[in-house]
Amino acid sequence: MQKIRLLVQILSSFISNPRLWITPENPIYKGPLKHLCFPGINCYSCPAAVFACPLGALQNAFTSLRFNLKLGASHLGLYVIGSLGIIGSLVGRLPCGWFCPFGLFQDLCFKVRLPKIGFPRYLNWGRYFFLIFFVIVLPIFFLDSTGFGQTWFCKYVCPAGTLEAGLPLLVLAPDLRDAIGLLFYNKFVILVLFILWSMVTLRPFCRAVCPLGLIFGLFNRFSWLRLKFNKETCVECHACELICPTGVYFAKGEDDINSTKCIRCLKCLSLCPGGAVELEFSSILKECNEDEKGCACNQK
Ligand code: SF4
Ligand code: SF4
Repeated sequence: MQKIRLLVQILSSFISNPRLWITPENPIYKGPLKHLCFPGINCYSCPAAVFACPLGALQNAFTSLRFNLKLGASHLGLYVIGSLGIIGSLVGRLPCGWFCPFGLFQDLCFKVRLPKIGFPRYLNWGRYFFLIFFVIVLPIFFLDSTGFGQTWFCKYVCPAGTLEAGLPLLVLAPDLRDAIGLLFYNKFVILVLFILWSMVTLRPFCRAVCPLGLIFGLFNRFSWLRLKFNKETCVECHACELICPTGVYFAKGEDDINSTKCIRCLKCLSLCPGGAVELEFSSILKECNEDEKGCACNQK
């Protein structure tokens, strides 16, 4: 299962970044596919990318939300919100474990042979801070003189943007090097810190920061695809706690197996010796209970 997941992660990174014909004259693709959001962190300005990043698109919608509302315009970002809602309702946070290129990058960093350290659980709350303030509040309420906000998370935080867009564009467009300032150096330091952290801790960006992962994760308990933990068949070996990349301690009862932290990598499902973890597909149709009074079938 995990070999298949790695293959899917690699394939999806190529599907979202297929541009191998990049030239300095044409560093960023701006064709029709850029109107579609890829279900993972993949910077819009990455020279190899052909899709939009849903987190960037969401912030963009919020930067112009008040301006558009004043004008009575219909560009309110409903497409992005709807796309995230549909993906989340179907599979919850599964794209983080299977499709996100920056997730794969962190998984590969962790393979570096260095002593590993744990992840303080309270840092999981960082995701709420970055989603609420950097993605929603600041872009909507801090407007410049033109009446528009800024994409605060992309501009001041996102290490994926520095890795996938900032650094490659400096190589492809030498003119940009003269424009480097404090902002770029700050973001470069953030990227280096996350790379070093990823070498010693599994998925630190996904666990402490990623607002997109949190949005998908909020659907985990209600999505069509869910995980189910059968306590009766658990032999309490605690192997699932050792292998879980995001520290979901469901066997101990500290977390729900469908916690917002779960990226649905399915490691626990494939490795559990007791078969205590299962996939569950919820049905939108209520099963017919023949004895139930008032059942439409009985009324025939
Ligand atoms: S790996 Fe399976 S059997 Fe072991 S503690 Fe986790 S759920 Fe229980
Ligand atoms: S709970 Fe299981 S599926 Fe979820 S992240 Fe942990 S190991 Fe992966």
